[in-house]
This record gives sequence, structure tokens and C-alpha cells, in this order.
Amino acid sequence: MSDKSIHITDAVKRAVEDHALRERPAECCGLLSGANGVITDLHPLRNEAERPETRYFASPADLFSAMRIIRDAGKRLLGIYHSHPRSSAFPSSSDVDMAFYPEAVYFIISLEPAVEMRAFRIEGAGIEEVTVSVVDG
Ligand SMILES: [Zn+2]
Repeated sequence: MSDKSIHITDAVKRAVEDHALRERPAECCGLLSGANGVITDLHPLRNEAERPETRYFASPADLFSAMRIIRDAGKRLLGIYHSHPRSSAFPSSSDVDMAFYPEAVYFIISLEPAVEMRAFRIEGAGIEEVTVSVVDG
């Protein structure tokens, strides 16, 4: 499981960026699902962190229902996304501490100075960037 690239449809990429812009100044978060390494769906989750401007904590109820929707659709959890409204698209130390799904790719959307999406695998304290390929769909 150390694939160096992941695919995402342009529609989902746009929807994730829209979610990030809509929640600003709070961080947004959500799940990304699909099959065969191609992300085809997003599942926005409520951020219930006490200080959502600098942290994210996905609503457990939202997480549970999104996981069920993914499973019922016969898809797989491929990614987890959140935004950095005011910092760069690189995992923070708390992001590393809270990375509980080593099989997922962590997407971070920075909003300043410009909208930028990057993706990483986080295992233990290790951070490895993953190339994001945007495909039609
Ligand atoms: Zn973060």
C-alpha cells in the first residue's frame, strides 16, 4: 500500500474545494471514496472540533453514516480531506497525531494564498506526498 499516485475526478476535486471555501474560516472535513484507486465521490462531514479554525474532528455520527454509504455502494474509503484556511497544504503535527487510517490518502486543501490541494500518506510519524491525478468525470 505505498502507491505514489491517486486519481480523483475533476467534479469531486471542485466539490472538495467548494466545501473548503464554504466553511472558511473554519476547517472543513470529509471522506473520499471510489474504486481501483479512482476517487469518484465525496462525503462532507461536520467539523465538531472545539476550535474549528485550526483543527478538525469529524462528527462521529456523520463518519458512521458515510462509512455505511460507502460500504453499501460497494466502494472503498480512499481518502480523507480537510482544509487549511490560513496555512499551507502540508500536514500539521496534530494531523499526524490524528491520522488513524494508514490505508487512506490524506488530502489537504489550502486556501491561502491560493486554493491548492495536496495529498499525503501518513503512517506513524512518516509523511509521504502522493501525486494527485485529475481525471474527467
Ligand atoms: Zn490540518
